[in-house]
Amino acid sequence: MPRTTARIQNRLAMHVPIRRVAMTNTRPIVSFTFDDVPRSAATLGAEILRDHDAHGTFYVAGRLAGENEGPWLHASVQELLTLHRAGHELACHTFSHKHLYELGGSEFRAEEDRNAEFFRALDSGIVLRNFAYPWGVADFRRKRELARRFTTCRSVLPGINRGMIDPHFLHSMPLEEAHTNVAAVDHALDEARDGNGWLIFYAHEVGTGGGTFCCSPALLRHALAGAQRRGMQIANIAEATRLAGI
Ligand SMILES: [Zn+2]
Repeated sequence: MPRTTARIQNRLAMHVPIRRVAMTNTRPIVSFTFDDVPRSAATLGAEILRDHDAHGTFYVAGRLAGENEGPWLHASVQELLTLHRAGHELACHTFSHKHLYELGGSEFRAEEDRNAEFFRALDSGIVLRNFAYPWGVADFRRKRELARRFTTCRSVLPGINRGMIDPHFLHSMPLEEAHTNVAAVDHALDEARDGNGWLIFYAHEVGTGGGTFCCSPALLRHALAGAQRRGMQIANIAEATRLAGI
């Protein structure tokens, strides 16, 4: 597909909601999400969340489980099961982690079915309820079907979710040193608290390697402690949708 068409489809998905929902949370919410799920997110990241009595959402593309692909080793099937059993949410990121615009309608449906079946076969209790756009790129032609399958879809468009929202294009903020800093994290937390909003952070690997998609343990701890200090509810995406009446 020409790049301009892909760009237009992403823009349409950004601006045209399938439905709009009024958030009804009584307290501000913060969610911590991890895309692709490098092994470090499932181990060190989950350990830091546990230290703060928090549960995260991990957006998984089943094909990558246990694979050394791209910049990191991905969490194994066993590590993903451990996350699920520890109360974290496993959510959908397509099966193959392809751009949505590369997939025809039937290929797209096969991707979604395959990821759902992959995780249900591991543990029948795993139901993928929420979705994150692979590579952060949405496609309006798939949005209606995504809205039928999933309670929410998360984008990487910066901002705080509050008031009337499009649940199938949630805003989120990076939690990776290459894309943010402590002051920006504090500012986002203040803004979410003051506006009774829902702030979603996204990250990939957790460690001290300092790569483009790396969140240091110190930054993750800073955001978790900052949310707690401000009296905000820390909830994974599934729980946040219940708190916000989505
Ligand atoms: Zn991804």
